[in-house]
Amino acid sequence: MSDEVAIYDEVEIEDMTYDETLQIYHYPCPCGDRFEIGLQDLRDEETDIAVCPSCSLMIRVIFDVDNLPKPPGSEPEPEQETPQQVEVAA
Ligand SMILES: [Zn+2]
Repeated sequence: MSDEVAIYDEVEIEDMTYDETLQIYHYPCPCGDRFEIGLQDLRDEETDIAVCPSCSLMIRVIFDVDNLPKPPGSEPEPEQETPQQVEVAA
C-alpha cells in the first residue's frame, strides 16, 4: 500500500454529527451508510480520516484539536474552586 489514499471529500468537523454515547463523529456517506471517526483518534491526532465501513470511502476531517470536546473527567471541574484564578487576556 502506498501513502496515497483516495479521499472522497473534505468535511469540516462542524458539519459532522457528534455521537456523545459512542464518542464518534459521523457524516452521511453517499452509499447510505456513514463515515465514522473516533473523537479520541482526533484528539490524539492519530488520524483525520473518517472511513465508511460499508463502502470503504474516506473523508478527511477538517478540525482543530483545541476545539474538540473535552473528555469527561479528564480535567478537574473548576466549579468548586475558590475564584483565585487570574483571567488570562485573550
Ligand atoms: Zn459508504
